[in-house]
Amino acid sequence: MPPPPTGQPDPKRMRRALMRWFDGNRRDLPWRGTRDPWAVLVSEVMLQQTTVAAVTPYYERFLARWPTPADLAVAETDELLSAWAGLGYYRRAHMLKDAAAVLADEVPGDAAGWRALPGVGDYTAAAVASIAFDEPVAAVDGNVERVVSRLWAIAGDPRKAAGKRAVREAAQALLDPERPGDANQAAMELGATVCKPRNPDCPRCPLRSGCRALALGEPTRFPELPARAKTTPVARLAAVVVARGKVLLARRDEAPNAGFLELPHVDLPSEHVDASGAPRAAAGDLGARLATHLRDAHGLVVRVGEPLPPHRHAITRWRIRVHPFRCSLSSGRVAAPLAWTSPRDGRPTTTATRRILAASLPELFRTESPAP
Ligand code: SF4
Repeated sequence: MPPPPTGQPDPKRMRRALMRWFDGNRRDLPWRGTRDPWAVLVSEVMLQQTTVAAVTPYYERFLARWPTPADLAVAETDELLSAWAGLGYYRRAHMLKDAAAVLADEVPGDAAGWRALPGVGDYTAAAVASIAFDEPVAAVDGNVERVVSRLWAIAGDPRKAAGKRAVREAAQALLDPERPGDANQAAMELGATVCKPRNPDCPRCPLRSGCRALALGEPTRFPELPARAKTTPVARLAAVVVARGKVLLARRDEAPNAGFLELPHVDLPSEHVDASGAPRAAAGDLGARLATHLRDAHGLVVRVGEPLPPHRHAITRWRIRVHPFRCSLSSGRVAAPLAWTSPRDGRPTTTATRRILAASLPELFRTESPAP
């Protein structure tokens, strides 16, 4: 290892070192090499909060199906959500469709133009503009934030105004203006593969000779993010399973998973939960609450029956516990947002609902069910 630096890193030297490293170490990813702004946008949106390994098959299938914004702009939302199923954060799929409607008419040529598209933030706008149009603008994601915070030992919370400005200026200083698209991808790649959050591989890092955080002996001190809240919020729901060959599902109208089908449900208030978090009983107040929800929200009269196996899952920082109950429909007409659905219909259905039905009603997945 060379001796630790005594002053601030020299941006020009760091840029050269970063680009040399990238040219010799870049991963061969399906979106590398394209300068088609639509393909770049799709890859950048899919990669938000999702791993490269998870995104790769989706990216290729998505572009094969909707190779241009005009193709996606006229796609059915159900078809889009089904194609996105399993990738998570479905808000991104809606955002891509909204952006596609604008891009079908006109493709902006700079970051400011991309920033004006529905759902496109500073990072995505800069990534597309630098990769597709060679605009020398830094794209700052979590990886880049970490690399430059450590390289310059930037103090303070990088999500607050002063820290954010310092990180942006540092990222801009590290950006090779001759190859801005590659330079942005190089900084991201370094953050993803070498300057990792908990275990930065400093001996292998091309920037180690200038890194202030390494010189201070505390690379992981930066970026100085506030400590995360230790408590994890838990949401408990009681869900209604009415099955007559097909199952009664409701279309969600809010994020996350807007547009997906799910079991009708109500929040489970704490007084209906015992010390272990399980509902106290299917009958009584809880049963009445479920029945009242179906009557008031959907005009259906149901009888609440036995509890089915509970289901647990996590969405972002939330833990969700779903307690499903087998119910029977006494009277009422099924109308939107409710629908009789089979898991075999291929309609977009939330993962939790699919898992609950697979555990409690596996016959729905085995054979084509007759209409109720
Ligand atoms: S030397 Fe270590 S802390 Fe500094 S940028 Fe490289 S990997 Fe990150």
